[in-house]
Amino acid sequence: MEFSSADGAEQYAAVVRAGRRLLVALDFDGTLSPIVDDPAVAHIHPDAGEVLDRLAAEVRSIAVVTGRPARQVLALGGLDEVGDAIAEHGRELVVLGQYGNERWTSAHRRVVSPKPPPAISGLILALPHLLRRAGAPEAWIEEKGLAVAVHTRRLADPAAAFERLLPVLTEAARERGLSVEPGRLVVEIRASGMDKGRALHALVSEFEAGAVVFVGDDLGDVPAFEAVLELRATGLPTLLVCSGSDEESALRALADVEVAGPDGVMAFLAELAEDVRIRHA
Ligand SMILES: [Mg+2]
Repeated sequence: MEFSSADGAEQYAAVVRAGRRLLVALDFDGTLSPIVDDPAVAHIHPDAGEVLDRLAAEVRSIAVVTGRPARQVLALGGLDEVGDAIAEHGRELVVLGQYGNERWTSAHRRVVSPKPPPAISGLILALPHLLRRAGAPEAWIEEKGLAVAVHTRRLADPAAAFERLLPVLTEAARERGLSVEPGRLVVEIRASGMDKGRALHALVSEFEAGAVVFVGDDLGDVPAFEAVLELRATGLPTLLVCSGSDEESALRALADVEVAGPDGVMAFLAELAEDVRIRHA
């Protein structure tokens, strides 16, 4: 394994030592699932089921933490079946949707989700006007219940449209007390108060994790990376893995390991599972 941070090798060794108490948390899009033009037809990496199953046998818990609604990621990832297999090891798969607002576990099998805030419906009504004002009337609006996402991926000049939309949507979100989450050619607006960082802190307490690995690829993962660094500062062994994309460098600067997209994530997780297995055999 190649490390991109000064203490990466040391952190990895400590994480492997703590293996039985390890929480492995993963983003979905771009991490477990290759990025595609139409997010509605994304699918999990073909090896993910087997690799997550192998890893689950060695560590305390595995969590998927995504901006997508939990139901969507369960369906796209076949995570129900993955959860079944993981449950056979007496472990639990947790899926946190909408940045931790929604929760599903392989033990409870039900998506628990709060009510959408009225400010989201108000914003959705205002969107056609806002998109016209930003010169991107054709941007694709994805209603996600607790959030709404505006995608520019399918427009003629997606990057320019994104740059025009971001300030307009940021202002509209601020007026309504909502949070803005810019991603890859997508601006997501959602209720304030939850992000992947808070979600991660909660998972660590819940599972009394003795070490944490987080794998992400996008700006939405920055709060999780920062949460992991806070945990590291308290002495917890942690490892940050960036699923490499040419588009984002914010994560890369913080990562201990950089891998080449979902293929690289699979290889990393398989190696981690094997190292923990050998260390604790
Ligand atoms: Mg992602």
